[in-house]
Amino acid sequence: MTTLILGGGITGLLTAWHMQQRGEPAEVWEAAEEPGGWVQTLPWPMTDGWPGRFEKGPQGILVSPGSVADKLFRILDLDLHSLGKGARWVGKGGRLVPVPAHPIGLITSSLMTWRTKLRMFLEPFQSVGPEEPEEGLSDFIARRAGRGMAEELLPPMVAGILAAPPELLSVDAIPKLRQWESYGSMFNGIRKSGISHLMVPEGGMGALPKRLVERIPMVRRGLKAFGLERLPNGRWKVHGQGHSAEADRVILALPAFEAAELLGPVAQGSAEALKAIPYTSVKLWNSRHDPLPPYDDGFGFLIHPSEGKPYLGSLVPSWIDKGCAPKGVMQLRSFIGDSALWGDPRPEEPKDWAWTERNLRHWVPALAAPSQTLEVISINAIPRAEKGHRGRVCQAVEGLPQGLDWISNARFGPGVRDVIEGIEEWLRT
Ligand SMILES: Cc1cc2nc3c(=O)[nH]c(=O)nc-3n(C[C@H](O)[C@H](O)[C@H](O)COP(=O)(O)OP(=O)(O)OC[C@H]3O[C@@H](n4cnc5c(N)ncnc54)[C@H](O)[C@@H]3O)c2cc1C
Repeated sequence: MTTLILGGGITGLLTAWHMQQRGEPAEVWEAAEEPGGWVQTLPWPMTDGWPGRFEKGPQGILVSPGSVADKLFRILDLDLHSLGKGARWVGKGGRLVPVPAHPIGLITSSLMTWRTKLRMFLEPFQSVGPEEPEEGLSDFIARRAGRGMAEELLPPMVAGILAAPPELLSVDAIPKLRQWESYGSMFNGIRKSGISHLMVPEGGMGALPKRLVERIPMVRRGLKAFGLERLPNGRWKVHGQGHSAEADRVILALPAFEAAELLGPVAQGSAEALKAIPYTSVKLWNSRHDPLPPYDDGFGFLIHPSEGKPYLGSLVPSWIDKGCAPKGVMQLRSFIGDSALWGDPRPEEPKDWAWTERNLRHWVPALAAPSQTLEVISINAIPRAEKGHRGRVCQAVEGLPQGLDWISNARFGPGVRDVIEGIEEWLRT
């Protein structure tokens, strides 16, 4: 049986690696010259030539000891580094409020009202909700941990992960939530599945696709698939730029909108369902500054969306990954959301560095002027699992003809960890 995998992002590469491990090698076609999709660590040298870097997509991966992701990195001989939980803040009421490192610290924190805190501590005593009908993300959190939690803490957290407002989203936007609830309560689920920390392999996140490519025999770079044809013998022919190939099975490891393009002529129902999955675009400003305690020694800060509109917060990559900038330099990565999603009062205003710096200084007035800045515009970067997502995914998958599959973070969950776990489970079934 011959298999072609279209898309050499982390989903396609990992699938090819697993198949190779099972003795069923597959060929991967990747449209770009460099495989990895969003998971790439790119060079950003300092002005004096020091070889700095920045992440195109994920800043790290959430890993708990003994988890599927932990085991994968070990098998691939990739050392993961973590500095632990790290200080973090939420911007609310015009100032940055520290997020306590431990739930007990929440008792004295000014992050939430007393009412919200009391309700949150009742989470373990709430009954488990039915699987159907699919709940909204805010409704799920309100049911489990109270309306206050859903309005005070959830929006900045979700904005920091998905760059979208939680009230638009399905609970399936963060699949871990339902998994944790299946243990009786989220509190129990988090405790039993082990506390995760954001980790980064040596060399940055791009080390993961690089290592996978080293271990997969056949990855064709710069080869974009543009047509699928069903042959009379039931096999599939894939047409690419200047090359075509036949296979018994074709796995589309592509974002929903790219897969929809290919599926249109051969699986219209699936294509319609995939086309209906929206994606969110973000702008990222990377900047380098003199260190500013305490922020240089922490994970970063997320801004409550009601005050950011659409500045969503900043991470501190120089704390997360020591290789991105030399000692004595604080590297920031600031997220600007899509104006249309966040009620931006001045959408016509360009979100240039001057705008970003003004917003940063509103929260961190003592921040030094940058020595370097770098703008990255990420179009259709993050799948938006809006309410009804589960039905769209089911319709897409169930409508596929024999010999075709679609896998993606839009199916398994938004993060690299979700993709790693999702692929393992998908390959088991
Ligand atoms: C800004 C940003 C920050 C993120 N931060 C985090 C984080 O901190 N932690 C975390 O866990 N996750 C994070 N993520 C999510 C993570 O990056 C994704 O879950 C993951 O990269 C998705 O991988 P994928 O292979 O499914 O898709 P993609 O990375 O989109 O890969 C799809 C690949 O298919 C190729 N392709 C497209 N069309 C064709 C075609 N017709 N023929 C052949 N090839 C084609 C593309 O070139 C691409 O390489 C972040 C994402 C972004 C964008």
